[in-house]
Amino acid sequence: MNNTQSNSSGGNILVVDDTPDNLRILSVSLTKRGYQVRCVKNGAMALITAKKAAPDLILLDIKMPEMDGYQVCEKLKADEQTREIPIIFLSALDDVFDKVKAFQVGGVDYITKPFQIEEIVVRIQHQLALQAAKAEICQLNAKLELKIQERTAQLEEVIGKLHQEITKHKQTQQKLLQQSLHDALTGLPNRTLLMEHLQKALQRSQRNTNYLFALLFIDLDRFKIINDSFGHAVGDRLLMAVSRILKGCTRETDTVARLSGDEFAILLEDINDFKEAIAIAERLLDKLTSPIHLEDRKVFAGASIGVVLGAANYQNGTELLRDADIAMYRAKALGKGRYAVFDREMYAQTLQLSQIETDLRYAIERQEFLLHYQPIVSLKTGKVTGFEALIRWQHPEKGLVYPGDFIAIAEDTGLIVPIGEWILLEACRQLRTWQEKVPSALNKHISVNLSSRQIKQFDFVDKLTKILSGTGLNGQNLRLELTETMLMDRGEKTIELLGEIKAQKIQLSIDDFGTGYSSLSYLHRFPIDALKIDRSFVSPIDADGNNCEIVNTIITLAHSLGITAIAEGVETSHQLTHLRNLGCDEAQGYFFSKPVNSHLAEALLSR
Ligand code: C2E
Ligand code: MG
Ligand code: MG
Repeated sequence: MNNTQSNSSGGNILVVDDTPDNLRILSVSLTKRGYQVRCVKNGAMALITAKKAAPDLILLDIKMPEMDGYQVCEKLKADEQTREIPIIFLSALDDVFDKVKAFQVGGVDYITKPFQIEEIVVRIQHQLALQAAKAEICQLNAKLELKIQERTAQLEEVIGKLHQEITKHKQTQQKLLQQSLHDALTGLPNRTLLMEHLQKALQRSQRNTNYLFALLFIDLDRFKIINDSFGHAVGDRLLMAVSRILKGCTRETDTVARLSGDEFAILLEDINDFKEAIAIAERLLDKLTSPIHLEDRKVFAGASIGVVLGAANYQNGTELLRDADIAMYRAKALGKGRYAVFDREMYAQTLQLSQIETDLRYAIERQEFLLHYQPIVSLKTGKVTGFEALIRWQHPEKGLVYPGDFIAIAEDTGLIVPIGEWILLEACRQLRTWQEKVPSALNKHISVNLSSRQIKQFDFVDKLTKILSGTGLNGQNLRLELTETMLMDRGEKTIELLGEIKAQKIQLSIDDFGTGYSSLSYLHRFPIDALKIDRSFVSPIDADGNNCEIVNTIITLAHSLGITAIAEGVETSHQLTHLRNLGCDEAQGYFFSKPVNSHLAEALLSR
């Protein structure tokens, strides 16, 4: 019995028993062991006392008058204030004691009388320890709960921030995606996005044969001229205006895209029939060939449109775009300001052109080019004044190819620059060789056609000078033929360039005069020596001298400018007669001679 000290911290115990002896014994024994003990004799008192100051444990007799222990226990358990107090039942051995009921009403233990105090103490200790442990767990739980709440709050804050970050990130991503799929200037979808939409349209048409779509490829006809002459700000405004026109002529569901520079494309989705695509192309042309108002000025942009009708046999969007592009080029070739619908034949021709392009690249190093020479005759003396050098291509498979079949490609690809240089060198070298053999060739000239790409080369004049000094030909024996468009293209710059050329005594003539666009105000400022009247004005002249008007006008114009008039394409003797009567100075054409190879030309010279 060494518990006096060990239980000195004790506990507060309420003993409820109607037998005064029991109360006394328990009170004394427990007090001795360090417990604070309160004693009551019946259930009613027990309830009041427990409620007033809750004990740590209650020893509760079962058999009591008025209210038995079970009832007291039930009442205590029903009250929030007393619910948690552990209750140990006390029962006499001979009592009818229902253990199950004792536990059911909420008791934690029971002791049968007569009791051994040691047993009671152990049971009390056990219950109090259990209670303490429970309390500790409760406290820990509460702390834990608090921690969890704190952590949850922190976590929520972090999650909130994370969400903000994610939203921001998504917005940035969206913006970047938008930028990567749209054109910055017009805001229209770019090529990448168009290709995506094209691909989808293609897949839809492969699944559903009733689904029709078309692709329009639009290229402005005069964008470069407008951009170069009015500046980029106007060019940009024009592109934006065009994008508005394109959007205005299409539905929300169509894709209007800017491909690059002045190239646009429209994907017309889910159309009822292909006539609809043609109607839209016509509507677009109507709008684009009318003047476009840009703040302070009106411009005529014009456009050429290629149309390709969607078909399931296309493998991918790239092929569709390629064919729309081919059709657009056809529209340009047919005279611009119109549309062309793609067909298979166009594709074959394009393939052929690209074959020519490939072959052209090798033609220089394989020395497949040669020059033919067409005499130019003075109408006063009837003598040859010189020759026009005309290029021919001795193609390994196709035979002799004429410039009409490859010069345009050479110009488009830039190959005209090295080819043109070779022509100049070869023509000058040839005339110089003739001069060394035939003295009369000393006052003859050689005419060489130039292309615009060539004269735009910054070192063109240098090259010209080198060719003259390299071959030993005098400048005055060389005539360069330019077209009106080439002259008009660059305004003042051209005047400067021509001045430098003239400084070397080289002669200049305007080829195919009357077919291009030239401004009379400029014409007299150009240091030109001759106008070559285009063949299309000479051929209609008949035996009776009908249709001479234009030729007459050009001859008069040339003479009033103090320069020579040369007729091209003279094929009949009466054409010659009328030209002579009109005062034309020189002429060239099949009537005198077709272009001939260098041997025949030399023979002509020697005659
Ligand atoms: P072009 O400079 O106007 O040359 C005259 C063209 O008319 C030549 O055609 C010539 O053969 C042809 N021709 C001459 N007289 C008559 C005639 O009486 N009747 C007919 N029907 N035609 C005649 P070609 O040689 O086929 O050259 C065509 C065009 O190709 C030239 O027109 C010129 O613009 C260009 N070209 C020719 N050679 C060169 C060149 O070396 N360099 C450049 N850049 N272009 C060239
Ligand atoms: Mg010519
Ligand atoms: Mg000509």
